[in-house]
Order: sequence, then structure tokens, then C-alpha cells
Amino acid sequence: MPTAFNTRDLYVDLTRRIGIPLHLKCEGFNFAGSIKLKPAIAMVQAAERAGRLKPGGLLIESSSGNLGLALSIIAADRGYQFLCVTDDRCNPATVAAMRAYGTSVEIITDPDPEGGYLAARLRRVDELLAENPGSLWLDQYRNYENWLSHYRSTASEIAEAYPNLRYLFVGAGTTGTVSGCARYMLDHYPSVQVIGVDSSGSVNFGTPSAPRQIPGLGSGIPPHHLDLSDLADTVLVDEIDTIRMCRRLARTGLLFGGSTGTVVAGAERWLAGRSDVVAGEAVTLAPDLGERYLGSIYDDAWVTARFPELACELQDLQAAQ
Ligand code: PMP
Repeated sequence: MPTAFNTRDLYVDLTRRIGIPLHLKCEGFNFAGSIKLKPAIAMVQAAERAGRLKPGGLLIESSSGNLGLALSIIAADRGYQFLCVTDDRCNPATVAAMRAYGTSVEIITDPDPEGGYLAARLRRVDELLAENPGSLWLDQYRNYENWLSHYRSTASEIAEAYPNLRYLFVGAGTTGTVSGCARYMLDHYPSVQVIGVDSSGSVNFGTPSAPRQIPGLGSGIPPHHLDLSDLADTVLVDEIDTIRMCRRLARTGLLFGGSTGTVVAGAERWLAGRSDVVAGEAVTLAPDLGERYLGSIYDDAWVTARFPELACELQDLQAAQ
């Protein structure tokens, strides 16, 4: 299997690094820095084909950051205007990058009553659509091109790279990735179990909403794309364990975003907790890279302000250096 440091190869074996028999498909090595470039391109091309997006047209979208960054690049490349509605949790580096591409970014600062921001972001999208006649909302939450892009590319690429694939762990935000992967495996490789992984406090798998700090995974609104019966199982991971795993991976030379820490932590727990794991490869996705999280997940002050219980662990880590 290729190593992490061959720039042409995007697969890493974590077995030696952190003792988990798990492979990572790294999706952050493109101009948008994340997996969300795939649904972004698919949704824009479908809108162009349908005549819904005209030259110079205005796109409006809600994003936790990565889809917004991907659409910013596509809009700049193709001459569209783009207005992105995000929220307080979006990485400042992502906001700055979107603005550098010419995107107008609106940041929602008042959370919904249950602590998320999605309902507030979508209300703002509605207002902006009304204020800008002729503008287009691609709507990643309901647009089937979102999950279809992963059915066509992400899932088939994994199946090709891992002929002995048995377990595939996929994070859930809009649930486009996990739904596309699960449907592809059900259609083509039904012996592969797709396990959904999300942050505690997300409603994606039917559990109650609670405040979350890290952008990427999770939702405060029930997902449109996901049919839970397509998944073999689901796992919820506390954000504190996301941070622990991101930092553990960093100490092996792998700097990833929060959702990678979540899915790896979820996969570790799921695999360790089962006596009936069958032989074959276990794979997960690293949806983005860690550099845009240096001011949050990898910043001790940011972490201890939000997760005071981690303060001692961070001190021990420093002392061990
Ligand atoms: N990881 C990261 C870093 C993301 O930005 C997103 C999308 N918000 C996801 C995972 C989840 O992907 P999806 O929307 O396809 O569920």
C-alpha cells in the first residue's frame, strides 16, 4: 500500500501508526482541500445542464465551510457570483479563503435554541433568495447530486482500491457521503458493511440535538439523504474524543481535520467492541486536512476553553516532549 508521503497516492494504513487495523482514503488533496469538491462540481454541472444557472448568475448556499470553499473556487473559475452563509464555528482560515476567491460570506452568530446553527443558516438563505430574484440555491441538504457524486466516485474508488473491503466507516454531515457510499455498496458489494459515524449532539441518527463546537460533521435538522436502513450500524463520538484522536494522529505525522478524528475514533471503538469482526479491510475517509484547524483543534487555549477536562492531558503531552 502506498505511503502517506507519496503525493500521488492518497491512501494511508493506520495499523502501524496507531495500532488500529484501518485504512484512510485521504480526500483533502485537491484545490478545495476537501471531499466537498465532488458534490460541489456535481451540483453546479447539473444546474448548468438544466439551464438553472446562467453565465454570471448568483449562487447562494449554506455551508459549515468546506462546500462553501469548493463552490467559491468553482464560482471564481466559471464566473458566477457566490454568497455563502456559514456560522461562528467555521474556521477563520476557511472564511478568509472564501473571501480571497471573491465570495461574499455571511456568518450567523445566533445559534438555534437547541445549540446548532443550521436552522438559522437556512432561514437566512431563504431571506437572501427572496432579496435576490434569479439567484440559485443548490441546496446540498436535498440535492440528490450530493449523494450521487459519492456513489459515482468516492465509493467506487474505495471498492477499486480495496478488493477485500469488509467495513467502511463514513462520517455524516449532510449525509451525502455516507448515503452515496452505502447505496453503492448495497448495489455492488452487499457483503461490505457501511457504518455511519457522527458527533454526539447531532440528530442525523435519530438522537437528540445538543451544542457542538467542531465544524464538518453533525446536523441539528433531520437529514433528507439518509435512509438509516442502508447502514449496517451507527456510532456517535464525543467531540473530546475527536480532539484526542486528531492529536494522536498528528503525533504520527498526519494532520487532519476534525471529522477524520471523529471517524477514526468511532471506527476504533466499533472494531474493538466486537468479537465477530471478520477478516478483510476496514477503511474510512479523511474528508479534509488539518491546517485550517490549527487555531482550534490543535490550539491548546481553544481546546481548554471549551473542553476543560482535557487540560491535564494536554499538559502531560507537553511534559512528555
Ligand atoms: N467532514 C468534513 C470536514 C466536512 O466539511 C463535511 C461536510 N460538512 C463532512 C465531513 C460530511 O460530509 P457530508 O456532508 O457528505 O455528510
